[in-house]
Amino acid sequence: AKAKGKNTYQIFTSSMNIEAYKLFALESDLRKALELNQLELYYQPQYSVGTQQIIGAEALIRWNHPEWGLVSPGEFIPIAEETGMIIEIGKWIKETACFQNKAWQDAGLPAIPISINLSAHRFLQKDLLENIKDILAKTKLDPKYLQVEIVETSLLENEKVVFSILDELRKIGIKIFMDDFGTGYSSLSSLKRFKKRIDTLKIDQSFINKLSRTNVDGSNFFTKTIIELAHHLEMDVVAEGVETTEQLEILKEYNCNHIQGYLFSKPIPADEFAALLKYGRF
Ligand code: C2E
Ligand code: CA
Ligand code: CA
Ligand code: CA
Repeated sequence: AKAKGKNTYQIFTSSMNIEAYKLFALESDLRKALELNQLELYYQPQYSVGTQQIIGAEALIRWNHPEWGLVSPGEFIPIAEETGMIIEIGKWIKETACFQNKAWQDAGLPAIPISINLSAHRFLQKDLLENIKDILAKTKLDPKYLQVEIVETSLLENEKVVFSILDELRKIGIKIFMDDFGTGYSSLSSLKRFKKRIDTLKIDQSFINKLSRTNVDGSNFFTKTIIELAHHLEMDVVAEGVETTEQLEILKEYNCNHIQGYLFSKPIPADEFAALLKYGRF
């Protein structure tokens, strides 16, 4: 047992070293990633539960790293936030998504809104609104085609500041999604204060992937209750991470508005998404 313990320790330290090295390498490489054109936006369609048509998309960032391959945003967004690089990268994300969407509309593709993710850190920065207005002016995209996703946890922080930012964004005509709903311990009654401030709730995939007819746990009840409450508050609901037809059927029964997940499509590169928009309607 002792020898095994020692081995485990060695494996642990050497894998820790690789992790530490990777983190170090990623941080210095991220500084150059923008100018080296290594960042790319993928798009994941969102579908109407009723018609099964594409009603929007979420832009999700990808980093094509020459040595490490595709680095997931879960790995490098935290680095970008800690180092402040998220400001530059965030501008690039907004610009790219808005330019792309406008180009698709100009090319005659069906006009749909595209969501971008606002990092918790970025959301509270003073120049966020100016930055968004600039980009909308520059790209000539109608604001109704830009949506922002903000995680539930960052909306619970400083109510006064948060509400004023939400109100300003909505005044411009931008729709607001509360992302990862269910992970942030906001009480059901506190959701009421977001009426007319949040347009759409995205139920976190940790609840959706437990939806089941045969193995019913709290996730079924939570999902059903949240959808009813959201509708009562005039919010739409997107279920995230829908992977099976069983989950889709349950969500349909619960009157969920929209779904996003591997069942219909993974996040895909821009050219594939354009083809899907043009030809691939269900
Ligand atoms: P998120 O905003 O909650 O994004 C949803 C994540 O779920 C995406 O992972 C998406 O690929 C994944 N997903 C979608 N459908 C399914 C499904 O059916 N099954 C499973 N297992 N997964 C599914 P991704 O692209 O790796 O992004 C992870 C997180 O990184 C995002 O979570 C978001 O917090 C962050 N992120 C991604 N792109 C950006 C960005 O442009 N800006 C910022 N600030 N954060 C980003
Ligand atoms: Ca999101
Ligand atoms: Ca989410
Ligand atoms: Ca998430």
